[in-house]
Amino acid sequence: MLIVDKNPHILLIEDNPNNIKLMVMLLEQQQYKVTVAVNAESGIEQANALLPDMILLDIQLPEMDGMEACRILRQNEKLAYIPIIALTAFAMPGDKERIMANGFDEYMAKPFNYREFLKLVERLLSRGE
Ligand code: MN
Repeated sequence: MLIVDKNPHILLIEDNPNNIKLMVMLLEQQQYKVTVAVNAESGIEQANALLPDMILLDIQLPEMDGMEACRILRQNEKLAYIPIIALTAFAMPGDKERIMANGFDEYMAKPFNYREFLKLVERLLSRGE
C-alpha cells in the first residue's frame, strides 16, 4: 500500500470515457485526489485554478491537442514545474521524441501496464522531496 502524508492531487486531461473511468479508478485506489477535464481548454483552466501536483495529459484531444496544451502550461511560471505525463496511443518510431519536445516529463503509451503506470506516477510525485 502506498503511504502518503497528504493525498496528491492529479489533474487528468482525457476525452475518452473508458480511459477516464479506468484511470480515475486506478488513481483513487491509491488515495490520489483526481480532477478530470475532457478537453485541453478546460484542462488548462483547471490547472491554473487548482495547481495540481501532477497533470496526466492525453495527446489526442478534440480541438487543441495535448502537445499544444503542454506548451501553454509550460509558459505559465506557476505551472512550469508540475510534472506532466503524456498519454498517447502513438507508437511510431520518433513519436516519443516529437511529443516529449513539447515539455512533458514522461510518456505513457496506451494501452499501458497498470503497475508501471502507477509506479511512474509515484516516482514523479516524490521527485524533489
Ligand atoms: Mn483522446
